Amino acid sequence: MRVYEFSKQIQIASKDLIDALKDAGFEVSNHMSTLSPKAIDFLQKKFNRGTMLTNSGQNQAIRRKKSVISPRADTVAREKEGVASGKSELSPIIIEQMSLADAAQRVGQPANEAILTLLRWGIIANKNQILPEAIVIRLAEHFGVPFEKKSVDEPGVDLKKIADADNKKATKRLPVVVILGHVDHGKTTLMDFIRKTRVAAREKGGITQHLGAYEAETKHGNIIFLDTPGHEAFSKIRSRGARVADIAILIIAADDGIKPQTVEAIRHAKAMKLPVIVAINKIDKVDAPRIEAVKGELAQHDLLPEEWGGEIVCMPISAKLGKGVDELLEMIALQADMMELRADATGAARGYILESQLEKGRGPVATVLCQQGEIKIGDLFIAGATRGKVNSIVDSNGKLLKKVGPAVPVQVAGFEKLAQAGDAFEVVSKAEFRKASLSTLRGPASAAARFVPEGAINIIIKADTHSSKEALLGAIDKLSVRTAKEFEKEFNVLYSGIGDINESDVDLAVITGASIFALHVKKESNAATAAQHAGVKIATFDIIYKLLDRLQEVAQGARKIKYTQKKTGEAVVRRVFKIKGLGVIAGCYVKDGVFSREGSVVAWRGNQKIGEGKITSLQRDKKNVKEVHSGYECAFMIEGMDDWEVEDRVECFIEVPEK
Ligand code: GDP
Repeated sequence: MRVYEFSKQIQIASKDLIDALKDAGFEVSNHMSTLSPKAIDFLQKKFNRGTMLTNSGQNQAIRRKKSVISPRADTVAREKEGVASGKSELSPIIIEQMSLADAAQRVGQPANEAILTLLRWGIIANKNQILPEAIVIRLAEHFGVPFEKKSVDEPGVDLKKIADADNKKATKRLPVVVILGHVDHGKTTLMDFIRKTRVAAREKGGITQHLGAYEAETKHGNIIFLDTPGHEAFSKIRSRGARVADIAILIIAADDGIKPQTVEAIRHAKAMKLPVIVAINKIDKVDAPRIEAVKGELAQHDLLPEEWGGEIVCMPISAKLGKGVDELLEMIALQADMMELRADATGAARGYILESQLEKGRGPVATVLCQQGEIKIGDLFIAGATRGKVNSIVDSNGKLLKKVGPAVPVQVAGFEKLAQAGDAFEVVSKAEFRKASLSTLRGPASAAARFVPEGAINIIIKADTHSSKEALLGAIDKLSVRTAKEFEKEFNVLYSGIGDINESDVDLAVITGASIFALHVKKESNAATAAQHAGVKIATFDIIYKLLDRLQEVAQGARKIKYTQKKTGEAVVRRVFKIKGLGVIAGCYVKDGVFSREGSVVAWRGNQKIGEGKITSLQRDKKNVKEVHSGYECAFMIEGMDDWEVEDRVECFIEVPEK
């Protein structure tokens, strides 16, 4: 029996049972841990509920439920009892990775028998195949051989750390759940079913809003579900070393099994250290052996179902009919309970943008999931490339709020421009808000580039913590004043952030021609590759003064370069094309020299100068080209010029640095 099952029977919280067991020296990690007969005995005595265990209706109900999950569950339980009462003659196996042949030998079976057994579970393995620990355990259990785990993998420990337990101000918060899985396996259907029947409608007549996240009510507490399409937001948030969900539901269609996106989802959940609950969907379409086969596939991906001795809870459901969804929600609530999720709801808010859109009459709005602190009407904030002032907060029931704390998705209005899904959201002081003029925020190149002060060296700063970032920015400010005096060069920090250098940092560097300077952080490998391709300079440092010395060298090296205009060629207009929506194109013949895409032109009609400007497009034979030589025809467009006439004379110039 598992801790949570026992907890249900004697109606004492799993957590209290676990604490009692731990105090008494029993090994137990979380609500899914199996209780030994000794442990059960201990708990019965301690909580004085011995009689409830036998012949309880609830007990039978649970057995019935278990038999839906796995027709073999009872057999497994019997085998386990056999093991526990020491009926077996074999000495315990120390569980570790081993080949199938070794495992067979240790459970006292011929290899062929082990191969057949695995096949029955849907696992194809040959004699030399190395089996994961979980499978070795399953084999030992199946053949009734006692075993001992060498290292106990306790996901609970890791989760506790995440649960902000040290912060005294942290209070309980709702769990945030994301549903992952292969396309067509039923994510939308499951979310729709939960939304239809379970959405918390606290306000009567409240209109449920599509926020990309919603709060569902369950008997065991409310749960926040995220349904951000494509999950790009998660990857982006993850690339910043943060996570937005607490639990992942991995949905697998029973008739289709594990597919590439399922594998991707498993990897994703593992990378984020998210506990996984598997929903085996579309059970209305298949028979019981097919459900077992999916469990076999899961085991091959190191997700061993709990009824096979692993930690993974598998819930057979039909999202279409709503069958099993209640039980799934219950499992989520139990898992959340175990994680003791807490957050500090005081102070300035920090969180993430899940979705963002333009709304008629309200301008750019975004769904914000706050992770810490409180968002209030009137707060100033920064979010990715934009900033704003909170002028309305609406929850997923359409209710207007004055403020909102962690883990409740809300729609915030008051953005200056559209934010992007995955952007960090941060409430800031007036001074920080002013400083964060749009030029210093991460954003499209044009916006950022336009604001660059003349003679400035664009840099992007990454640091490991808020305080080291602030220290660095302060030091760069001072250095900049000095280098401006000495070398006519100052530094323009285009963006400063916390965490490893990621691809979007590199993207920003590419578009703005900036270099990246980082303190105490690493490059993500895809960011390193992208930087190499694009020729972006990244310098990482462990000591702040070394970083500053390097910046000083850069300022010294990059003295202001003066440019002069040099004429490269001349052309004459032969035809003029007006293209709707595009502008006016001058079709020319190059008489002399070259016309370069990098250049600008001065245009003459007779002796009169009729205009000048940069070349915005240069084509030959309808193809974009870099240059066109004398003797050829070409077509070009010039910024701000559309008054062309045949016979106009056009001179091309390029800028060259002065020696
Ligand atoms: P998504 O791509 O993961 O969001 O998958 P959908 O929710 O769009 O489901 C894909 C298809 O499977 C739809 O035609 C659903 O009606 C169907 N479907 C989803 N869940 C079930 C189920 O439990 N049983 C059956 N028979 N069909 C289902």
